[in-house]
Amino acid sequence: MSAPEEKSDDLEMKTDVAEQSARSLARDGGRSVGAEPTVLSCPTCQGVLLRTGEAATLHFACQIGHAFSPLALVREHEESLQRMMESTVRSLRERAILLYMMADAARSRGAEARATALENQARLYEIIEAHARGFLKEATEADGVPREGHA
Ligand SMILES: [Zn+2]
Repeated sequence: MSAPEEKSDDLEMKTDVAEQSARSLARDGGRSVGAEPTVLSCPTCQGVLLRTGEAATLHFACQIGHAFSPLALVREHEESLQRMMESTVRSLRERAILLYMMADAARSRGAEARATALENQARLYEIIEAHARGFLKEATEADGVPREGHA
């Protein structure tokens, strides 16, 4: 039976090997190692990711040289997803604020029906924003890669 530290070291060693392999894959765009295209996109440049290796040697690289072990790719995706969701929440908030401003302007020129319609639309965006914040919170809590081999 091995101690948790040994398993953690093993995971780190596999990650190092995968990262070295990913760098060599990136250097020649996968031509010399029979890399296969995937449905995954590079979190840095959004290009197609190529994969080589199996299980412990699995690694990914895009054609301009961004290279990832599976663990590094998962971590990059977590950060990318977090940024996109934060941007979505911010955009929804800004849209609601703008619609309220437009409603105030409409009301100040006597267009009450238009003002009410704009406020209703703003409230709808506030509801969507609240849902998006909930998804962001859930995604943040779900982030992280479970450790190997611990029951
Ligand atoms: Zn890339």
